[in-house]
Amino acid sequence: MVLIVQKYGGSSVANISKLNTVAKRIIGTKKRGNRVVVVVSAPGDTTDELIELASEITASPEDREMDMLLATGEQKSIALLAMTIHALGEDAISFTGPQCGIITDVSHGKAKISNINTARIENELKKRKIIIVAGFQGISHEDNITTLGRGGSDLTAVALASVLRADVCEIYTDVEGIFNADPRVVPDARKIERISYDEILEMAGSGSQVMQSRSIEVAKKYNINIHVRSTFSKKEGTIICKEAPMMEEVVVAGVSHEKDNVKMAIIGVKDRPGIVAKIFGALSDNGVNVDMIVQSSAISGVNDVSFTIKHKDLKKSIKIMDKVKKALKAKQVIYSDKVAKISIIGVGMKSHSGVAAKLFSILADKNINIQMIATSEIRVSCVIDVKDMERAVRAVHKGFGLSKK
Ligand code: ASP
Ligand code: MG
Repeated sequence: MVLIVQKYGGSSVANISKLNTVAKRIIGTKKRGNRVVVVVSAPGDTTDELIELASEITASPEDREMDMLLATGEQKSIALLAMTIHALGEDAISFTGPQCGIITDVSHGKAKISNINTARIENELKKRKIIIVAGFQGISHEDNITTLGRGGSDLTAVALASVLRADVCEIYTDVEGIFNADPRVVPDARKIERISYDEILEMAGSGSQVMQSRSIEVAKKYNINIHVRSTFSKKEGTIICKEAPMMEEVVVAGVSHEKDNVKMAIIGVKDRPGIVAKIFGALSDNGVNVDMIVQSSAISGVNDVSFTIKHKDLKKSIKIMDKVKKALKAKQVIYSDKVAKISIIGVGMKSHSGVAAKLFSILADKNINIQMIATSEIRVSCVIDVKDMERAVRAVHKGFGLSKK
């Protein structure tokens, strides 16, 4: 019998009427002769609200208590969903992460799943029950409740699909799938039918909100096919799967953008071994995530080094770089918080040439200045002025023929 793991995100279980829609969908899946394991997130903005609540008490709550608090959001969803299914006349049983054997390490707030004891789930599946699991949580081997990081219900779903050898893992959300650009910026953005794990990972890393990255990494490792689709529509969504040769025929699968960028530069450092190690060591020691890095070709023994960070790290980074400037006797540290990043992604870039050149000429035609460039095997990213961003995304989407069928 086919086993399907379904995950419903917070917006799909935000109120009783949505829970009803979800419950009917689950029952329909079971009635078609499948076994069903369901993972749910906390309703709506519950997790944000719980974080806010804790912050009204203290700026630094204990990690253990924070996880104890955050895990309640998902527990609310599983109980309400089980009751909804019961009210519709079907058999279902809800489990917290700990109850269904999700064992993690001890790193609260970002725990890693170490193993899953599936006995209890399998037992209940044999009784033909619908299994409902709280996403985003587990229990450490020290017997404390842990959470898996924001968006962690995706990870619960993929991990369960893997250990239960599910035939498919369906991720239900409030959009119809993954689009080749943000539909709020590009009105004729198109739904992608199939996309590879690596492309999704690059998209998530360059500003597209798709799925939690760790869940995609796990899906890739265990080769789990994921179907991202809408809770509120019968239409097929997007399949995330292993790269297939036909995928390479499409040069660019999608355009991503990210506003939340700051460009910093340290001007006039010595061109000597160990200098950049000092700069980026100082940033990473303080938990600042650096994205793009560009070092100028040294002229007469002096270098400029620029890099991008997220807005949330700006204040902290100004302080750190001020110290670095003094220590390295650099001339100056400058920054601009009015930059954005635009990226094109596609496995087809491996076998097609001229992709980056085409991107640059599309931007040039629109008179958009490129401030920084970075590439991977399947991605080209440019930092541009934030005021040009939406125009750039639309031009690039059109220029690479992503709007037509
Ligand atoms: N409720 C958690 C969050 O908002 C986990 C999830 O939604 O996947 O991050
Ligand atoms: Mg959520």
